[in-house]
Amino acid sequence: MAHINARAKARIDSGHPWVFRSDIESATGAEPGAIVDVFSGKRFCGRAFYNPRSQITLRMIVRKDVVIDRSFWKEQLHAAIQRRPIATPQNSSRLVFAEADFLPGLIVDRYGDVIVFQTLSLGIDLFKPTLLDLFKELLSPQEIVERNDVATRELEGLPLMREIIFGKLPEPFLVHEGTKEIHVDPLEGHKTGLYLDQQSNHMMAKTISRGRVLDLFCYQGGFALQAAESVEEVIAVDSSASSLSMLQKNAAHNKISNITFVEANVFDHLRTLEKNGERFDTIFLDPPPFAASRRALEGAMRGYKEINLRAMKILRANGTLVTCSCSHHVSEDLFCSMLQEAASDANAAFQVISRQGANSDHPHLLGFPESSYLQCWFLRKVT
Ligand code: SAH
Repeated sequence: MAHINARAKARIDSGHPWVFRSDIESATGAEPGAIVDVFSGKRFCGRAFYNPRSQITLRMIVRKDVVIDRSFWKEQLHAAIQRRPIATPQNSSRLVFAEADFLPGLIVDRYGDVIVFQTLSLGIDLFKPTLLDLFKELLSPQEIVERNDVATRELEGLPLMREIIFGKLPEPFLVHEGTKEIHVDPLEGHKTGLYLDQQSNHMMAKTISRGRVLDLFCYQGGFALQAAESVEEVIAVDSSASSLSMLQKNAAHNKISNITFVEANVFDHLRTLEKNGERFDTIFLDPPPFAASRRALEGAMRGYKEINLRAMKILRANGTLVTCSCSHHVSEDLFCSMLQEAASDANAAFQVISRQGANSDHPHLLGFPESSYLQCWFLRKVT
């Protein structure tokens, strides 16, 4: 049983699923990872995973007095899966988005017949055998891959690991994104293999791209491959040789021959492009999260501004800049101010054509700002 203070109670009431260590008045008789009854004074608030080792000491599972057993988890999983739109042609999507799907710490992604999962809280990790059983029952996968090599697990006192739990990955392992067939490596790829959260933005990229295209921080070509079809040429830049070689493989597989692959640091490469007077009609800017913590925010904003300013300068008039942030510490207002400053320094006016977030299978839970992290702005340079 855990007692929480009034501040935590108010936060929970507003939809937030976390209680921080400093807001816990007492916790008795609970082992790390156990499910505890949560009280504020004499009022029952619900049941939560308890982990005294983590700053996020309680993660609310349910706000009602219900038994948490195998059939509870089955219902939660089933509900999350049912909430997803009917399988897209590519059939790769996030089926469970942790707290935002009321399954604290659990990520489940589907790539065709392959399920890739992460258990990122101690409480949910202890239910792994039940969950694996339920994945088989509800999804009948051919393969299950565990991608628990995420640093946040260390904050929960959990080891890092990745393995194929059962089955054998298809070789080659291809999924669809739009009209393209792309390779996925669920063991070595970023996240669980692909940036599924950007899928709708990749699709939109296809419709807005024209002329000469620059894809910065391209990874395996989420934007580049979609853009390539309707444009003159794409220059795809990433510092990772292995990501670029996967992009090269994807381009060849889709018979795309107008992508140039550049292994470079984007900060340096932008400077070179600017110095050489290169110009582009469409630029994608999708860096890794620069602000891993609130303390890192100032430096992160300097980084965002530098790359956005340089991209704005080398963009032709009427060109489109697609610029992203996946740091949840960077608010929409903060990102917008940074863009304004960069535009002003570039001496250019920009229209916001569209302001997108993550794909709809990564829903943002109201009252839980941490579940909203991805911004993708489509800007047009007008003058
Ligand atoms: N746009 C991609 C995802 C990008 S992920 C998509 O939609 O699929 C971020 C990428 O940035 C990674 O591939 C990483 O290798 C690369 N990266 C990180 N820091 C970099 C830097 N300073 N210069 C170039 N690439 C970098």
